[in-house]
Amino acid sequence: MKVLQINKEDLKHNIDVIKEKAKRTETKIIAVVKGNGYGLGIVEYSKFLIDNGIEMLAVSTVEDAVKLREAGIKADILMMSSTCIEEDVKVLIENNIIITLGSELAVKIADDIARKFSVNIRAHLKIDTGFGRYGFLYNSLEKLIDALKETTNIKIEGTFSHFSQAYAKNEKWTKIQFDRFIAAVSYLENNKINPGIVHICNSSAFLRYPNMHLNAVRIGSAFLGRIIVQNNIGLKKIGILKTQISELKLLPKGYNIGYSNAFKTKRTTKVAIVPVGYYDGYNVRNYPDSYRTIDKIRYLYNAIKDLFKDKKLKIKIDNKKYRLLGKIGMYHMVIDITGNDKIKQGDEIYLDINPLYVDSSIRREFV
Ligand SMILES: *Cc1c(COP(=O)(O)O)cnc(C)c1O
Repeated sequence: MKVLQINKEDLKHNIDVIKEKAKRTETKIIAVVKGNGYGLGIVEYSKFLIDNGIEMLAVSTVEDAVKLREAGIKADILMMSSTCIEEDVKVLIENNIIITLGSELAVKIADDIARKFSVNIRAHLKIDTGFGRYGFLYNSLEKLIDALKETTNIKIEGTFSHFSQAYAKNEKWTKIQFDRFIAAVSYLENNKINPGIVHICNSSAFLRYPNMHLNAVRIGSAFLGRIIVQNNIGLKKIGILKTQISELKLLPKGYNIGYSNAFKTKRTTKVAIVPVGYYDGYNVRNYPDSYRTIDKIRYLYNAIKDLFKDKKLKIKIDNKKYRLLGKIGMYHMVIDITGNDKIKQGDEIYLDINPLYVDSSIRREFV
């Protein structure tokens, strides 16, 4: 048995402190619920956010947008990925989703469909300030102005961009992206395009750069308190995997445990088997993807450090910590409970886990 528990009180606390911080800069919160709501279960999590005062959601796929509407969620939903795929645009429009426009063709396709359906489409413009993914390049916006002049059925309600490393210690690149964005917004205004609400911050930028909050912030990971920047507003970590001890066993001295023969018992050892492994998302760490040599070295260093950490990893049962023996398997780990006569098969265990990595087949429970 495995259940992913989401502590409602802690989640509400996180929502409240984020709202409090946003209030200080008078910025609107857009809650990003992509990746199955960061693993919390997109529908139940979104409803919880809305019940606690969040008014706008954002997703990255058409499927997620539809799922939210099918669940009866009426709040504004921003689809953050621009698309030139007509079928997808149609579905988004039918479901009253705010779409993102990131290329001339996307603008044209959206306007054509809107005209055909005789509807007005709500849209945000995406500016690429140096991510190289979605959006009009920040320094060649003439094309955007031209494309928008041709449209009749599109209402621009916002303009945004995305940081590529707002978590990084070095602030230079983030400031460059921010300046490019501000210049792009001015360019639109000078060309009589109302940019609507402007937004660029994700969780890291929200926590680190209050001066960049602008009209709205797009918050994902901060709601779960699982961030790689300093937690300066007291966010609580969301995500506990509840499971049970499945087996107990006595192993003789000098006996191997697990893959790679990485551990050998130094004495007669009583072990407990916990039916959780890396496939369940246990002990999987969140490193931002980056491919510069310096980052590779940094990640390698962290990986080596983690190797030792793995060995030192302690599993808590009834507030006492037990050592992990050998390597974590796909679905199992073995812990040392030598000298303990209280632990029994079936005893419950609660593991700290990042919900994002917990397989979607495992039940979510808001407790
Ligand atoms: C995922 C995402 C966010 C939220 O990122 P967090 O770091 O989890 O807050 C914001 N904007 C865009 C475009 C995203 O894809």
